[in-house]
Amino acid sequence: MLIVQKYGGTSVANAARIKAVAERVVRTAREGNKVVVVVSAMSGETDKLINLAHQVSANPKEREMDLLLSSGERVTSALTAMAIEELGCKATAFTGRQMGIITDKVHTRARIEKITADRAKKALADNYILVIAGFQGITETEEVTTLGRGGSDLSAVAIASALDADLCEIYTDVDGVYTTDPNIVPDARKLDKISFEEMIELASLGAKVLQTRSVEFAMKYEVPLVVRSSFNDNPGTLVTKEDKEMERVVVSGVAYDKNQTKITLTGVPDRPGIAATIFKRIADAGIIVDMIVQNVSIDGKEADISFTVPKTDSKKALKLTDEIARELSARGVAVREDISKISIVGVGMRTHSGVAARMFETLAKHGINIIMISTSEIKVSCIIDLKYTELAVRVLHETFELALK
Ligand code: ADP
Ligand code: ASP
Ligand code: MG
Repeated sequence: MLIVQKYGGTSVANAARIKAVAERVVRTAREGNKVVVVVSAMSGETDKLINLAHQVSANPKEREMDLLLSSGERVTSALTAMAIEELGCKATAFTGRQMGIITDKVHTRARIEKITADRAKKALADNYILVIAGFQGITETEEVTTLGRGGSDLSAVAIASALDADLCEIYTDVDGVYTTDPNIVPDARKLDKISFEEMIELASLGAKVLQTRSVEFAMKYEVPLVVRSSFNDNPGTLVTKEDKEMERVVVSGVAYDKNQTKITLTGVPDRPGIAATIFKRIADAGIIVDMIVQNVSIDGKEADISFTVPKTDSKKALKLTDEIARELSARGVAVREDISKISIVGVGMRTHSGVAARMFETLAKHGINIIMISTSEIKVSCIIDLKYTELAVRVLHETFELALK
C-alpha cells in the first residue's frame, strides 16, 4: 500500500516526539508499505513566527509572511527525515516547492492548483520515504505561499490524491474525531466514522481537528481519510461517504468557534441595493462574512444589519464598515468581540424536526441568551456570549445524548 501520514504540531513538538514519529513511519514501511510523511511545524511555532512579525511591523506584507511561516515546516521535515535515516531507512525531505505543489497567488491562504509529483514518484520508486513540509506551496512565478491555518492537513490530502495513495492518515493529539472537543467535555465520545458532509460542517464551525478545505478536497477526490493519535495505536475515525446508519443519528457533534466578531450597522436607510453595497465592499477586501441578520423597523424606513467576521479580519472590516456607514448616512456602527458561535451538526437533521427548538430550549434553561441564529440542512448555529461557550457546549452535548454511555 501507499500510505500518506500527516503529523500535526504536537506530534513533532520536540526531538523525542520526532523520534517517535520516525519509529511509527519506519514500522509502517517495514510492514511492506510505501510511506509519504507530511509534517506541520512544531506546535506553537507558527504562532510564534506571526507574533515576531507583528513585533517588527504593524502591517507585515503577506509575501514575506508566507516566506517566514513556511520555515517552521522546513525545520520539522528535515529533522524527521534525519530521524528516519537514523533508524536505517532511506528518507529524503522535500519543501512544498520540491514536491511540486503549485498554488494560486493568494498569499497566506493559497489554493492548490496542481501537484507535479514527478520527483516524488521517482524517489518513491527508489525506495525512499518522503517527508514533505506541509502548509506550503509555490506559485507559477516561484513565490512561496501558505495554505491557511491548519493547512498541513490539506497538503496531506492533496498529496495523497496526487500520488493516488491507498490511505491518508492524519495523526494528531486526540484519538480521532469526537462528538465535541474532548479537551472541553471529558466524556465526549470518539466516532468510529463520520460523513464528509458532517466533518466539513464541524470543521468550518470550529472543530480544528481537521482543516475544512482538506475535508472538502478529500470528499471531492474520494481520498480515504482517517484521523488517529500519534501517541497510541488506537483505531481512529474514518471520514467517509454518508451511509444509512449515519442518518439515524440526529446530532453527531457540537462545535464552538471563539474566533468571531459581530459588527452592526444601525439606522441604515432601507432601500434596494444597500445589502449588496455593504457586502460587496467587504468581500472585495477579501473578508469572509459568516452570519448576516437584517431587521427592518416597523415603519419600513430603516434597517439594522448585523454580521460576523473572523476576529483576524475585524479591524479591517470595522474600518470599511465605518466608511460605508458615513456614505450611507447610517446612524452608527457597533462592535462586539466577546461572542462565540455554538453549533450542532448532524445529517439526521434532514429527516427529524424540532432539533433547533431543543437547542434553543437548552440554552434558555441555562440562562444563555442567543444573539444570532443561522441554520442549514444539517446544522444549527447560535452566536452567544463568549463567557458561556464551555457551558453551552457541555449542556448541548448532554441534551443530544452524545456522551459515552
Ligand atoms: P494538529 O496540531 O495535530 O493539527 P490541532 O490542534 O489542529 O492538531 O487539532 C487537534 C485538536 O482539535 C484537539 O486537541 C482538540 O482539542 C480539537 N478538537 C476540536 N473539536 C474536536 C472534535 N470534535 N474531535 C476531536 N478534536 C477536536
Ligand atoms: N503550522 C501551520 C499552522 O499552525 C499549519 C498546520 O499546522 O497545519 O497553522
Ligand atoms: Mg491542525
